[in-house]
Amino acid sequence: MTAMLTPPVVRFAPSPTGSLHVGNLRGALINWLYAKSAGGSFILRMDDTDAERSTTAFADGIEADLRWLGLDWELLVRQSNRTESHNAAIDRLRAMGRIYACYETPEELTTKRGLQLAQGKPPVYDRAGLNLSDDERAKLEADGHNPHWRFLLGQEEVRWDDLIRGQVHYDAGSLSDPVVIRSDGTPLYMLPSVVDDMEMGVTHVIRGEDHVANTAEQVQIFQALDGDVPVFGHFPLLAGSEGEGLSKRLGSLALKDLRDEGFEPMALMSLVARLGTSDNIEPVADLSELVSTFDISHFSRGTAKFDPRELRRLNGKLLHDTPFDQVVARLGDLGLGEADEAFWNTVRPNLELLPDSLILWKVIHGPIKPVCDDLDFTQKAADLLPAAPWDIDTWKQWTAAVKDATGAKGKVLFLPLRLALTGLDHGPEMKNLLPLIGPERAKARLRGEAA
Ligand code: GLU
Repeated sequence: MTAMLTPPVVRFAPSPTGSLHVGNLRGALINWLYAKSAGGSFILRMDDTDAERSTTAFADGIEADLRWLGLDWELLVRQSNRTESHNAAIDRLRAMGRIYACYETPEELTTKRGLQLAQGKPPVYDRAGLNLSDDERAKLEADGHNPHWRFLLGQEEVRWDDLIRGQVHYDAGSLSDPVVIRSDGTPLYMLPSVVDDMEMGVTHVIRGEDHVANTAEQVQIFQALDGDVPVFGHFPLLAGSEGEGLSKRLGSLALKDLRDEGFEPMALMSLVARLGTSDNIEPVADLSELVSTFDISHFSRGTAKFDPRELRRLNGKLLHDTPFDQVVARLGDLGLGEADEAFWNTVRPNLELLPDSLILWKVIHGPIKPVCDDLDFTQKAADLLPAAPWDIDTWKQWTAAVKDATGAKGKVLFLPLRLALTGLDHGPEMKNLLPLIGPERAKARLRGEAA
C-alpha cells in the first residue's frame, strides 16, 4: 500500500464528526505544502473510529472541501477499514504487558482526580488497574464491569526535535497512561493513529499544539511497536482577530460556508498558508507559488490571528486581477450567463466577493430606482445625452456638455448623475458603466423612472 508513496509522507487526519473550518484548513494546508514543496506525498486519513459520531456525510464534505481548495491526496485511508491491523497491534502490546485493563467508571475517575488536586498532587492516573490480581479482575467482570484498556507509559523523559517548537522534553511521569481501548472493545484515536502512521510510512506528523502531550505518549507507542518514530511538528492554534479562541465562531468559518458565500479558494489559501509565519501575506493566485515559497521554519510559536476582514481584502484583490476567462463559468453559475468581458472588466475593481457582481449586473441592466434629488438638473442632462453608439469616451463628452449647459462642476456635476444612473453614490467608473447601461435606460433613469 505504501510502496507508491514518495517521501516525505505526511497525513491530514480529520475526524469526520463535523465540517472542516479554517483552523482545520491550517493543518491540511501546512501538511500539503510540506509534502509538495519536498516532492513528497499527502495522505488523507479519516479518523472515523468513533462510529457514533462519525458520518459518511461529514467524510464526503471533507473531501469536497479539499477538492474545492485544490488539495489533492495520493492516498485516502479510512481507519474504520483497518480494524485488523489495529487489533494485531493491540494483541502485540497486550502480549508485552504494555496495555492493561482498568475498571473505573468515569465518575470514579473524576473523584480520584478531585482528591489528587485537593492534596496538591498532579491528577495522574494511579494505575490501580495494573495492581489488580487475576481474581479481582475476574470478580469485577463477573459483576458485569467491562474493562477499558490503558497503555503503560515508560517513566523516561520523551524528547523530540520539533519542526516548529524546537527541542521538546516531556516527562512521561507527569502523564496518565492513555486509554487506548474503550470498554466496548473499540480502539480510541491514540493507538490506531500510530499503527496507521507506521504502516503507511508516514515520515512527518504535523499537527496542532493541542497534540503535544499525545505526541509524548505516541512516541512511546511507536517505540513499543518497533516502529520508526516520525518527525513531529506542532503549530500553534489559530485565534480570532481579537485573540479569542476560534472555536467560538467556528460556525461562520466552516469552509463550506465560505465556499457558499463565494470566497475564492486562493484567497483563503493565501491567508492561511502564511498566517503566523514571517512571510508576507499577499494575494497569491496559484498554489504552485505557495508551494515554492513554503518553508516550515518560517512558522512562529506564537498564536496566529485569523481576521475575516483580511480574508475579504485578499479576496477582492485576487478578483481585481482575475481575467474574464477564469470566471466566466462561475458567473454563469450565479445566473450571469450573459455577462461578457466588458461587464467583467467594468465591475471587477469594485468586487470583494464574486457574488457582488449580481448587484452590479442589476445596476447596469435594471430595473433600479434612480435617485434624482434635482429632477430639473438630471432631466436637462438627459436631453444632452449623445446619440448612440456609446463608448468609453461618451461619459467625458456628455458631462462636458452638461457642465457647459448648467455651470455645474466637480462633485455637484458628477454625483447627481451617478445617483440617477445607478441609484448608488459609489461604484465602478462611470465612463465604463455608461455604455453598458445604454441610452434607453440612461434616459429613463435621468427622468426619474425605474428602469
Ligand atoms: N483525528 C485527530 C484530530 O483531528 C488527528 C490528530 C493527528 O493528526 O494525529 O485531532
